[in-house]
Amino acid sequence: MPKRHASSTGPNEKLNPTRRVSVLLPLPLGTAYDYRQPADMELTPGDFVSVPLGRRQTVGVVWGEGDPAGIEESRLKDVAARLDCPPMPEETRRLVDWVSRYTLSPAGAVLRMAMSIPEALEPAPPRVGYMPAEEMPDIRVTAARKRVLEAIAGGPARGATELAREAAVSTSVVTGLADAGALMRVALPADGDPVAEPDPENPGPKLNDEQKEAGAELAGAVDGGFSVTLLDGVTGAGKTEVYFEAVAAALRDRKQVLVLVPEIALTGQWLTRFARRFGAEPELWHSDLARGRRRRCWRRIAEGRARVVVGARSALFLPFSELGLIIVDEEHDSSYKQEEGVIYHARDMAVVRARLGEIPAILVSATPSLETVTNVDSGRYRSQHLSARHGGAEMPSVELVDMRRNAPPRQRWLAPPLVTALKETLEAGEQSLLFLNRRGYAPLTLCRGCGHRLQCPNCTAWLVEHRFSGKLQCHHCGYATGLPKECPECGAEDKMAACGPGVERLAEEVTALFPEARMSLMTSDTVRGPEAAAAFIEAIANHEIDIILGTQIVAKGHHFPMLTLVGVVDADLGLMGGDLRASERTFQLLHQVSGRAGREDRPGRVMLQTYHPDHPVMLALAEGARDRFLEAEAEMRRDGGWPPFGRLVALIVSGRDEGDVDTAANALGRAGPNSKDMRVLGPAPAPLAILRGRHRRRLLLKATRDIDMQKVLRQWLSRVRWPNGVRVQVDVDPYSFL
Ligand code: ADP
Ligand code: ZN
Repeated sequence: MPKRHASSTGPNEKLNPTRRVSVLLPLPLGTAYDYRQPADMELTPGDFVSVPLGRRQTVGVVWGEGDPAGIEESRLKDVAARLDCPPMPEETRRLVDWVSRYTLSPAGAVLRMAMSIPEALEPAPPRVGYMPAEEMPDIRVTAARKRVLEAIAGGPARGATELAREAAVSTSVVTGLADAGALMRVALPADGDPVAEPDPENPGPKLNDEQKEAGAELAGAVDGGFSVTLLDGVTGAGKTEVYFEAVAAALRDRKQVLVLVPEIALTGQWLTRFARRFGAEPELWHSDLARGRRRRCWRRIAEGRARVVVGARSALFLPFSELGLIIVDEEHDSSYKQEEGVIYHARDMAVVRARLGEIPAILVSATPSLETVTNVDSGRYRSQHLSARHGGAEMPSVELVDMRRNAPPRQRWLAPPLVTALKETLEAGEQSLLFLNRRGYAPLTLCRGCGHRLQCPNCTAWLVEHRFSGKLQCHHCGYATGLPKECPECGAEDKMAACGPGVERLAEEVTALFPEARMSLMTSDTVRGPEAAAAFIEAIANHEIDIILGTQIVAKGHHFPMLTLVGVVDADLGLMGGDLRASERTFQLLHQVSGRAGREDRPGRVMLQTYHPDHPVMLALAEGARDRFLEAEAEMRRDGGWPPFGRLVALIVSGRDEGDVDTAANALGRAGPNSKDMRVLGPAPAPLAILRGRHRRRLLLKATRDIDMQKVLRQWLSRVRWPNGVRVQVDVDPYSFL
């Protein structure tokens, strides 16, 4: 008999006459396993338990009652222990089930995202702090010891690491002082010092009328059950200040708030504004946090002590016990889609989480996704619109630079009109941003002798030259190698030539044009980690930089008062490849970058270098015609039956043996559903036909909206067997078509 699909039951129901419980384990398993509940143990759904699995002990979550008709009594094993930590809330468990069902991922794989920090389930390790001793013993006081004693005098007890960092000594100096009796050891609170709570009554900025009205609407939704509201407003309208009103309302109700942001490294300015508005820091959640901090954060959330959490998409699976509001900032951002492991869209799952918890969700963007706009149009979502920039700042003017008529000199990429504008901006003492969404020095290196192109040995991709690190890199698999002197194909010496620009090469051009300008390069290669990003952004805000060169990490959200010129070096870049959302994504990205210009009293100017000045995306950007663009885009998708007007699922078949992959992909294609409502496209080689040494084929299932795709997929996949070593990944609502 097949196992039941795991499904979590309600809260606090006492389990069960048979004393069998089903326990879901954070492993890529589709089902929960049954265990016996020992006579002296009371368990309720959500409890974290340790159970035997094979020869080892594993921690899992009680998911519901066991199945009396399941494995026979004699083979049933006992739950070993119930862990001493708050149970996983019902909404989180239901979210795990929901995501598993929707994405066709094993429930255990989804659970693993909700248990990302296993140490949090154990009692906190004791933390030792240091204080000055009552009496100073007679010891030799070196310079290093002196710094420690000065640092500790007067302040609260601190851990050795923190104290050592403050005094710029090694921890052994601190422990040495304690051993000598000059410092006293004391116990620190295990879960970190009590943190100040954000205060909703702390005065915020005075909102203008439009902001006030939108803020009141959002705040009003806070105790009204489930709802989704799009907060749509031009760049610089003050959307953050407006949704802070809803945050305040939730805090007044003693509810927790989750704010999802696309890129946590870029939240420096956001955090400052939050602290100014609420007089305290929010809790920050992301994967780069040190384990100890993540552990404490997880505990504080589970215990309801963390009131506001700002995090990347994985924060959705944190064990909020009193969540009352979810905000998805920059809701259109493609980094909300997780493309590996469990493939899910955090914006969509945030809406699911809101529905499960019967709480409101607010989606925020200046360039909302067509999905969200369509939901507003159909009345499923509400919307609030901010039509003007705060403080009377004008929207920037957008010019198209026709590259066919304004060709830059050979081996240069800035057209004369943009160079002139840069010069004018420098002379006016203002800042410029040059945007090129291409890391490295050159996207392609070829041999001028034989035309050979340097390719990744593991992927269907060219190697990108990174001149600072002196390497050729594959941006798909991380392969890196030195730059060859000779062509690996024809052996010619000194014939390898860089083709096309990356930001590093653009930096060369800018330096040559404006040697006296202070220029800085902002990419994920030059700015590593949240601290570095914050320092960089502060330097720009303080006008320590004249010309900023950057990839998409400069495009998002920042507010730089002196930035008046934005130049987009290759506006056509995102239109190539032509997938379903190429136009939409290009519009969003370029609109976002453009929105960095002229945010205060100095008017902004945007120049888009393009070879296709008649393309609808370019025209819409130049004319500021967002809604017209969205309507045209919607019409095209509606006519073709594409999302959001139809449904789409991608299957990616991959493996090391090309023949096996083809066999499996063809078998899937033949077994696929085919009716007037549903069609299978492919199989076809993926654009990334080889990735990390695996051959890849893609199939697309396209259907009308009323089709239950999950059911169709389960039936389809169950009809086909594929050889070992071939993997079939299911991507429901695909965003990447590589
Ligand atoms: P958006 O997210 O809509 O692009 P922001 O929320 O970043 O805009 O706001 C732009 C700038 O204007 C920020 O520096 C913000 O602090 C400021 N701002 C917005 N509204 C107000 C207000 N009512 N009073 C004072 N400053 C405001
Ligand atoms: Zn590669």
